[in-house]
Amino acid sequence: MAKCAFCGAELPEKANFCLRCGGPVLKPGEKLEPIVIEAPEGAEVIISDGPPEFKPE
Ligand SMILES: [Zn+2]
Repeated sequence: MAKCAFCGAELPEKANFCLRCGGPVLKPGEKLEPIVIEAPEGAEVIISDGPPEFKPE
């Protein structure tokens, strides 16, 4: 019987998610890897120095 790594609930062998907390069920030997969110290539990071200047028309 597998157990949830998060809440300890007992899970059916075929369960992919914990029935109690909804966490992913890790298979033996599998580790939780941090999810790295990377900015898409070519994306510009816009850093503003302050409020936009007022430009009279
Ligand atoms: Zn759980």
